[in-house]
Amino acid sequence: MALFQKKDKYIRINPNRSMKNVKHVDPEVPDELFAKCPNCKHMIYQKDLGAEKICPKCSYSFRISAKERLAITADENSFAEMFTDLKTRDPLHFPGYQEKLKAAQEKTGLDEAVVTGVAEFHGQKAALAIMDSNFIMASMGTVVGEKITRLFEYAAAKKLPIVIFTASGGARMQEGIMSLMQMAKVSAAVKRHSNAGLFYLTVLTDPTTGGVTASFAMEGDIILAEPQTLIGFAGRRVIETTVRETLPDDFQKAEFLLEHGFVDAIVKRTEMRKTIAKLLAFHGGSK
Ligand SMILES: [Zn+2]
Repeated sequence: MALFQKKDKYIRINPNRSMKNVKHVDPEVPDELFAKCPNCKHMIYQKDLGAEKICPKCSYSFRISAKERLAITADENSFAEMFTDLKTRDPLHFPGYQEKLKAAQEKTGLDEAVVTGVAEFHGQKAALAIMDSNFIMASMGTVVGEKITRLFEYAAAKKLPIVIFTASGGARMQEGIMSLMQMAKVSAAVKRHSNAGLFYLTVLTDPTTGGVTASFAMEGDIILAEPQTLIGFAGRRVIETTVRETLPDDFQKAEFLLEHGFVDAIVKRTEMRKTIAKLLAFHGGSK
């Protein structure tokens, strides 16, 4: 006899307990207790992510703020911030831009989407820029471009190597053509730094897309990326509809780019400081 036919024997229902009028209530789980990995979709206990915030299932490196990155990457107390006096303007009087900027500044505690300065990695000094995707998806407006340009000019004058952690949704649409011009401006500064025989290292973090990928993110002498990072210019859907082809699942992932020669190495966050220090030393370090 099939099991379901023996329900009286196997399933005992408490006659005093009725399921009628019982409301369904979601168990109260605080948001901060679990995190869903955006890459493999696993629910992960926050504690298991560690200070570096790495998914234990797929090695995806969660998006972190510039401050968090600084804390886990640069030597303690070695960072001196620079170029904090630039103020973002609204040249096109773009509707809602001022409010968006103000909200981003309040949310992140930053003045703009990139933090610039000088830091040390196991004692190796370098100019450093870290982009923060929490600030309007680290889109590149005039101030972001200007801060990075000034950093390259400073590094060239002081004979310093430069390390940039990129993250960006692309150019900042609210600044229109002004933001697109940053690509050429920063690229010219990269070239002058390169002509001075100095080393430039980029670390692509999730997501690095649009005008940032199309300029300084891919101009490094050595290009590193974090595991499972999204790296691209146009979005996947735009490309698929343009070329009318289905793209592979790992298209625009760091691993795909490594295989195709666009990235030199994929480095885990836990190994990042050591790797940067080694590369800086290998390329002559700070003179
Ligand atoms: Zn994952």
